[in-house]
Amino acid sequence: MQAVERQNVDLEAVRAKYRAERDKRVRADGNEQYKEVTGDFAYFVDDPYIDEVVQRAPEKRNVDVVIIGGGFGGMLSAVRLKQQGIDNFVILEKGGNFGGTWYWNRYPGASCDIESYIYFPLLEETGFVPQQKYTNASETLAYCRQIAETFELADKALFQTEVTATTWDEAACRWQVSTAMGDELAARFIVHANGPLNRPKLPAIEGIGDFKGHTFHTSRWDYGYTGGTSSGGLSGLADKKVAVIGTGATAIQCVPHIGASAEQLYVFQRTPSSVEVRNNGATDAAWLQNQDAGWHDERRRNFEKLLAGKPVRQDLVSDGWTDAFKLLVGGLRDKAPSKSRVALWALGGLFNSAMYKSGLKKYLTDKAMRFMNLAEAMEIADYHKMQAIRDRVDNVVDDADTADALKPYYRLFCKRPCFHDDYLASFNRPNVQLVDTDGRGVERVTQNAVMFDGVAYEVDCIIFATGFEVGTDYARRAGYQVTGVDGLAISDKWADGMTSFHGMHARGFPNAYFFGPVQGGFSANFTYALDEQARHVAYIIDAMKQRGKNRAEASPMAEAAWVDEIVEKARETESFQAACTPGYYNNEGHLTRRQQDQAYGEGPVAFFDLLAKWRAQDRLNGLDIA
Ligand code: NDP
Repeated sequence: MQAVERQNVDLEAVRAKYRAERDKRVRADGNEQYKEVTGDFAYFVDDPYIDEVVQRAPEKRNVDVVIIGGGFGGMLSAVRLKQQGIDNFVILEKGGNFGGTWYWNRYPGASCDIESYIYFPLLEETGFVPQQKYTNASETLAYCRQIAETFELADKALFQTEVTATTWDEAACRWQVSTAMGDELAARFIVHANGPLNRPKLPAIEGIGDFKGHTFHTSRWDYGYTGGTSSGGLSGLADKKVAVIGTGATAIQCVPHIGASAEQLYVFQRTPSSVEVRNNGATDAAWLQNQDAGWHDERRRNFEKLLAGKPVRQDLVSDGWTDAFKLLVGGLRDKAPSKSRVALWALGGLFNSAMYKSGLKKYLTDKAMRFMNLAEAMEIADYHKMQAIRDRVDNVVDDADTADALKPYYRLFCKRPCFHDDYLASFNRPNVQLVDTDGRGVERVTQNAVMFDGVAYEVDCIIFATGFEVGTDYARRAGYQVTGVDGLAISDKWADGMTSFHGMHARGFPNAYFFGPVQGGFSANFTYALDEQARHVAYIIDAMKQRGKNRAEASPMAEAAWVDEIVEKARETESFQAACTPGYYNNEGHLTRRQQDQAYGEGPVAFFDLLAKWRAQDRLNGLDIA
């Protein structure tokens, strides 16, 4: 490739640096590098938050709907069903209460870096005023309880109830749902709202089972050991040496608190995150309360449109996320994006993808070249953005070697961007040491230490901030198998890639709805996508009832056409993913990940509009109805 020098950027040199950093990290074992939390490691997923173990008789019931998951997805399903007048449902939740991801992730500093005014669903219905622009875990959990109270969901839920199997019974036209409590529920419809990041994963580091000290995963924080609360003050660590393994979005939030409390903290880093300023602030309650009806949807749509490169008159959220996108679209900071420019940007992405797939790049016309230049302009903007992030590290971190090690070398959206005002400064503390593994990861664990490069870092406690399973089999992540018509398992149906209609229906699985980002509207503001899925499913279930119908299943044609549409509109080209540092965004750098395992390429708002139009037709097109 020819070297391109523009605005003092040697793109070829940047690409080479990013490629070299990526190559260090790509491993042959891909997702196999992680250990499933079963067998000797099953204790990592025990629930540390329950006050009392529920003792109850097994339930044998017939209901209209079983909702699996008591997080935002399950709660929103319940609320939207109620609003359609459907009340005969049960929510099954393995945790001790509502909250889902926020029930489990209570680590110190846990917080959401999507603006609370768009992240919290149902704000107009509840009238709730979040305290700050970016909320924290305890307020979010409290809000979940408030939703449950407002919509009277508590008596609909069975907590501490883990689903073990869901099986379609054709003769009864029902889903049979079994739980670890011995429940046997029969449901006309079933909603799988089990969360895309719900199953903690551990790295399969040699000797990980040998460690004799204390250890836990960030999603099961052991406050009994550390002391303190999700606001910090971890007094139990005052005389402890602690290792944190991982430097993703979770570690970025908890490291400052551990660093402030522990006698010694070693942070083991494989790949640095990009960490921008977050800039939290108190909510102006009067401003929020004086918004016009419909403001919440408008604000959510505005955010999503910007992130999808669509034109908007004003950036309502105006934060690190929207700023990044405005910048990537090209010099649009502080002014409304020009319609033609963003359209060009969006087209440029699609065009590149099509060119890549068809192998026609070498036959480009002048016009085509202009699109290509646009992609290059974005690459340059991305470089400047990442360079600003790297410069910030130098400005904050005192030690030059540590600062160098904390600089991310990849394109911004290769990994989840992080926002934090204290993380980088934590490394200026004398008791906090970054152990940079230069892409290799921790070498081994012994009875009392974490080892890297022949050095044993003796610790009392290892905290795994190593994230959640993403690219593995659906049943493994959900914790139960879904068995459809003629014994077809969802694991087998999706073994070679997801096939669905609208990302929610799957042929062979009548009356079942799968919530998640794949083949649907992926949004950084995930609760918005869940809300739209919940509305959609509530409409379908109601429409079935209204028509006196019992069975709805994606037709083979509708499913095939949807998969084709997903592939055709795929936004993230294989070439972009191939150049990215490995992680769960690109299946650990193994591009066996099919083009179909993506979200709807025109962005979430276009997807939600498409669903709304489908509902407005009121014909249940694409579903075989019986
Ligand atoms: P991630 O998967 O993002 O991070 C896991 C970390 O563990 C990575 O830094 C990874 O390194 C590291 N790791 C894995 N194996 C090893 C090893 N053998 N040695 C050393 N390090 C290792 O998990 P998180 O829990 O941080 O975040 C998961 C997701 O949760 C986020 O992407 C985000 O979507 C969500 N989240 C959202 C928040 C919000 O504000 N809304 C806050 C927190 C989380 P490597 O990068 O090299 O793979």
